[in-house]
Amino acid sequence: MRIFDPHIHMTSRTTADYEAMYAAGVRALTEPAFWLGQPRTSVGSFTDYFDGLLGWERFRAAQFGIRHHCTIALNPKEANDPRCTPVLDVLPHYLAKDGVVAVGEVGYDSMTAEEDAAFARQLELAVEHELPALVHTPHRDKLTGTRRSLDVVAESGLPPDRVVIDHLNEPTVGMVAESGCWMGFSIYPDTKMDEHRMVQLLREYGTDRVLVNSAADWGRSDPLKTHAVATTMRAAGFTDTEIGKVLWDNPVEFYGQSGRLLLDGLAGSGPDAETFAGNSVLRGGRPGGDG
Ligand SMILES: [Zn+2]
Repeated sequence: MRIFDPHIHMTSRTTADYEAMYAAGVRALTEPAFWLGQPRTSVGSFTDYFDGLLGWERFRAAQFGIRHHCTIALNPKEANDPRCTPVLDVLPHYLAKDGVVAVGEVGYDSMTAEEDAAFARQLELAVEHELPALVHTPHRDKLTGTRRSLDVVAESGLPPDRVVIDHLNEPTVGMVAESGCWMGFSIYPDTKMDEHRMVQLLREYGTDRVLVNSAADWGRSDPLKTHAVATTMRAAGFTDTEIGKVLWDNPVEFYGQSGRLLLDGLAGSGPDAETFAGNSVLRGGRPGGDG
């Protein structure tokens, strides 16, 4: 089985995670730009991070046989910090790059006026750059946040089939299904949404326009939750075609709208892997090399 995780923050994960993901069938992923936990204090902190997503992290993933893509944005939380908002002016430079398959994560955290402005501006950038958009929904007051997000998307002029509304649950899925936007679900180890509830939702809403992700990051999370959904779908009687649609075809269709997916000729892993700017994740493991 081949898996495409459409939302995972590999910068926060270990190489052991890459190996376990490969063994579970993960061959491609998208890493959205997000909040690092520690507040950023300048635009330079963002640009180094964006460069890392496009450079080092893509290289590291390839060494473990996984194709890495990213989405670029000012995240909702830091949209409230005036030290961070000037990054909006450098986003066009990044949105033009190969390997950037959407604008994101954008959306709401606390639903402030500052978040409104950054959200609307970044959907404008998605229209200008002909890219899809990944919209994060808030963990607090999710119902209101999701409704407002759909309104902002409708006003943006971005076609709904180019937008995924992510981190959905039972109360919020219906309005997104109706809107024509893609429905994103993040599967967590012990809160919010799990693989069994996900399978129930797939029974109810079908497999069209559904993206399932692990959203694994530096918090409690599990990078193999996409695989857990696949095995739970199988146990519930879904066919291989349906499982493949949710876990591979759908992410390829959604991010494929960027025209920038990198899915041919996956680089192999192992001791022959090259170095990136003189660094190898193998740390001295290269035969004949000096590490
Ligand atoms: Zn995320």
